[in-house]
Amino acid sequence: MLRIYDTKSRGLAAISAKSPVKIYACGPTVYRDVHLGNLRSFLLPDLIRTALASASIECVVVQNITDVGHMVDDTGLEAVDPGQDKMLQQAAIENVTALDIARKYEAQYFADLTALNVHLPDQTPHASETIDQMVEVIAKLIELGFAYQGDDGSVFFSAEKFSSYGAISGNTLDQLKPGHRFDGEVNAAKRFHGDWALWKVSDERRTQLTWETPWGVGFPGWHIECTAMSLNAFGNHFDIHTGGIDLRFPHHENERAQSNSLTGTEVVGSWVHAEHLLFEGRKMSKSTNNVVLLRDVMAANISPAAVRLVFLENHFRQQLNLTWDTLVAAEQTIRRWSDQIELAKDVDSELKVEMSSHLLNNLNTADAVLALRAKEKSLAKSPSARANAIATAADLLKLDLTTAPLELSDEIKNLVTQRSDARAEKNWALSDQLRDELTKLGYEVSDANSGTQLRRAILPPT
Ligand code: AMP
Ligand code: ZN
Repeated sequence: MLRIYDTKSRGLAAISAKSPVKIYACGPTVYRDVHLGNLRSFLLPDLIRTALASASIECVVVQNITDVGHMVDDTGLEAVDPGQDKMLQQAAIENVTALDIARKYEAQYFADLTALNVHLPDQTPHASETIDQMVEVIAKLIELGFAYQGDDGSVFFSAEKFSSYGAISGNTLDQLKPGHRFDGEVNAAKRFHGDWALWKVSDERRTQLTWETPWGVGFPGWHIECTAMSLNAFGNHFDIHTGGIDLRFPHHENERAQSNSLTGTEVVGSWVHAEHLLFEGRKMSKSTNNVVLLRDVMAANISPAAVRLVFLENHFRQQLNLTWDTLVAAEQTIRRWSDQIELAKDVDSELKVEMSSHLLNNLNTADAVLALRAKEKSLAKSPSARANAIATAADLLKLDLTTAPLELSDEIKNLVTQRSDARAEKNWALSDQLRDELTKLGYEVSDANSGTQLRRAILPPT
């Protein structure tokens, strides 16, 4: 059984072994590269899958791809002008179609997940391909009296009709005063300032990403997309809904209001949110110009496995202040472990059980990694048992410790051979001198069980 913190009940929820566990993860809006902060949140369903797998519990992960309807102002409180659709804005910047943008950044997203050794979602519905289902659920919400067509033709959800609004975030409707965030500017087509658009009518200036509906030509609101896609995938109930902490409100609050109103039942079992990533002390976000991509990290010769390790070493419910120093230290650990695993022969069952119990306890990945570190220390004098422990933990936590072979010039190969010979002859002075030479040429030299191991030197930006 997995115990995991549910934002709505503000306590630990028990996810029992009724296989497979159904998980819906809010996915990326594919208009730009995801940064390390986004990736921390997108790792969450994979951590849940890892924890469940350690107890042989299966799960199905559905993650949506948002390729329409996410506006520049994504609070959903609908100021008069929520700005442009993020997809269309980026299409204009890159002078290509919105579809080109979607394909390009979606491919990059999956490449990043793969590099981080994330088990890809079992289904990845696209918002733009789920419009029929959205139209269906919007029509039903109107029929049930939860939604109405405003004066401009757009369809809005009537927030006051959903009595438990605010249960996830604590932002109840009486706290959502107009002007709270928008200085009193409220879209005149709405009846109540807390209402939000399910379908937005568009004008002739919007030439892409529009669909014909009973309410006119337009496009969906961001929140209804996740209602339609999650209900479509799972029916009226699923176990876990994930996202970054900022999605609690209004995105998840609105999704819950829509989904529960439609089905007359509590659709989501547990709401699980990942805390934010800071970088060098500031929140990582595009708007504050504080963005690091996975490929920036890899350019410093730091592996995706090191990034995964840092994420694991910090509990998902705690803010993580990442720094280049932390990343460098994690890469050094990954290299140290990777130098040792060749000797591994058996599974360290004791460590596996201990780590699994940490994972099943609210995804306590930090203690799981500490268990490995403690074991590594206690086995300082037993290289093969230590290797077993490292390989067992790496397998459980999906840390890729394999080292990709480097393309080496003849000059470098020659230096490596000379150094191996020097070591065989116990000529330590010469061996050290050759190591210094290799270091100057941009390589880090370590001595694995199989001999000299060469890697590119870690080069964080200065
Ligand atoms: P966005 O594309 O801004 O909607 O973000 C995609 C996902 O990344 C959402 O789940 C956000 O909550 C999450 N996210 C955005 N910024 C950060 C951050 N600095 N740290 C962790 N998660 C983030
Ligand atoms: Zn969502």
